[in-house]
Amino acid sequence: MSTKFNIGVDLGGTDIKVAVVDCEGIVLYSDCISTEAHRGYGHTINNIIKAIKNILQKNNLDISQIGGIGVGCPGLVNPETGVVKFLPNIPGWINIELTDIIEKELGLKAGIDNDVRCAALGEYRFGAGKGYSNIVCITVGTGIGSGIIINGQLVKGANFSAGEIGHMILQDTGGKFCGCGNTGCFETLASGPSIVEMAENYIMGGKSSKFRELAGDDPITPEIVARAAGFGDEVAKAIFRQAGYWIGIALTNVVNLLDPEIIIIGGGIAKSGNLLLDPVRKTVQQRALKTATENLQIVEAQLGNDAGVIGASLLVCNNNNKKNTCITG
Ligand SMILES: [Zn+2]
Repeated sequence: MSTKFNIGVDLGGTDIKVAVVDCEGIVLYSDCISTEAHRGYGHTINNIIKAIKNILQKNNLDISQIGGIGVGCPGLVNPETGVVKFLPNIPGWINIELTDIIEKELGLKAGIDNDVRCAALGEYRFGAGKGYSNIVCITVGTGIGSGIIINGQLVKGANFSAGEIGHMILQDTGGKFCGCGNTGCFETLASGPSIVEMAENYIMGGKSSKFRELAGDDPITPEIVARAAGFGDEVAKAIFRQAGYWIGIALTNVVNLLDPEIIIIGGGIAKSGNLLLDPVRKTVQQRALKTATENLQIVEAQLGNDAGVIGASLLVCNNNNKKNTCITG
């Protein structure tokens, strides 16, 4: 019996990240290639297969050293049948039998799940959630998603749709339209695009602020707003307070419903650290039930951009929710 490595794939709308991950959740080798979504799903799948073959070849690994391949997908998947049902940001991916295709092409066991659930699994086993059994991991980026682990088990839901926290409705009237077709969703209030929109509105309103100066001729990004806040810009700080407030309101509902031990916040916006986390913690402490907040931790994710590939690599472990689970052969 020798320990094998697994391959984790994080499929995104723009890039595909591929990594060779060991039993301890360490990324040994990784590569990033373009999704080229406009060329159709068949082309993207070929890119994934090519990238896996390349990473093995480049690092002198034989396919026999790999236990399996896990793929995190940005949308609705059925992990039991291995079918990608629908990816909202990658057109053409409807009912694609992804694990079958990968298994046939590479002769290895394959597994799939939603990308945010993969990230939650990664944080749970090897990141900020290590040692806890009741975890909510949210990612705040272009959209907002979450992975929920209760009593050490990943919650998937009857239709594999659990964790869609971004579409929790926080404004019953007058809210902005959301990509899901509803209005007033959490995602319209605190995601990356909503931070940028607030910044642009402040600029249009004639408020002087550091982020226009920092961006130069380039578009404003959440990172620029965060940098401006770091320089002490009051408008930028107010934007993060506002986003943090809404995240805190959404998480108050989550805390009252699920009573987690720890909430892990990841994604591009979370890199702003306490600038975002302080208003989140304050809101949850003020608004959630005391019994649920007494020992509650709200922390930044630890695995950064690797959470997705590390979690995906765990999908092909014998039992991805328990310890010492890497496939051995
Ligand atoms: Zn929505």
